[in-house]
Amino acid sequence: MKALVLQEPHRLTIEDRPIPEPGPGEVRVRIHRGGICGSDMHYFHHGGFGVVRMKAPMVLGHELAGVVDATGAGVTAVTEGDRVAVNPSLACGACAYCRAGMPRQCSDMRFMGSAMRDPHVDGGFREYVVVTEQQAVPVGDGIGLDEAAVCEPLAVCLHAVSQGPDLSGKRVLVTGFGPIGALTLLAARHAGAASVSATDVAAGPLALAGQLGAAASYDVSVPGALAEEEKDRGRFDVVFECSGHPSAVQSALAVTRPGGSIVQVGILPDQMTLPFNPLVTKEITYRGTFRFDREFNQAAALISSRAIDVRPIISGTFPFTEADAAFAFAQDRQRAIKVMLEFA
Ligand code: ZN
Repeated sequence: MKALVLQEPHRLTIEDRPIPEPGPGEVRVRIHRGGICGSDMHYFHHGGFGVVRMKAPMVLGHELAGVVDATGAGVTAVTEGDRVAVNPSLACGACAYCRAGMPRQCSDMRFMGSAMRDPHVDGGFREYVVVTEQQAVPVGDGIGLDEAAVCEPLAVCLHAVSQGPDLSGKRVLVTGFGPIGALTLLAARHAGAASVSATDVAAGPLALAGQLGAAASYDVSVPGALAEEEKDRGRFDVVFECSGHPSAVQSALAVTRPGGSIVQVGILPDQMTLPFNPLVTKEITYRGTFRFDREFNQAAALISSRAIDVRPIISGTFPFTEADAAFAFAQDRQRAIKVMLEFA
């Protein structure tokens, strides 16, 4: 099979690899679509992010969908020919966090396409992957496998929403309107938010926000863009901070009302300086969110029924042999939200 291997920053090569065989309880999936994530972009451009660094070549990709191609002994959940989204998360099941029902915080997590472990866990930008049967989650026949490949980032956003308060009737702001911001808007609306507004610094994402029904979209490259929302000590009930920019955290603290909540979705710089006293005096709940657990299967159900329609965020699809062009396009925030690689 062919595998797309990141040798070092900006150097993707296509390698021949043996087709993996599924063991007991495992299935082999013929990958059809793989979405390019922000973390893939960080590996591609910088070899990692934060303290996570690639120490050896690695196959990227953790937003995957395809067709079950072979099953190992004892597999009952899926059969050959099933169309599935691939859950890239494999927790150990034995550590304290797994036993406490938080496998996303597993101390021995094997997450596809991640350099956090050494040796690294290869991702799914290749023609075949072998995963446990629980990781191959069937999707409806009525959707495209590109939509199915959005299950992973939607799961991240469903989990982010679950980390906040009940959104029924709430005024919500999403800061940063890349794929995660866009999917958080859809997830927040699905969770009953009265209105969801969005910020970004680029016209393309702001136009998409409008198309997706954002109550308002704010170009925060313009000074004072959020001034109206800072009145009355802040007018939003809940802010989902998806940009990872310190300035957006500062804005979030200014526009969140007393007693409101901020959920930090974007990964921030390791060090930053901010006026944090609004958090204290306005009694704001500031909460992190990371990856997902059962939300992956919820995402598969919501996308399969199109209760959440992810098609508007898919901006382009490239054959995996043109991965360099795909990564270049994904970098263009004016035009690209979610970019797909095609493997079959
Ligand atoms: Zn564990």
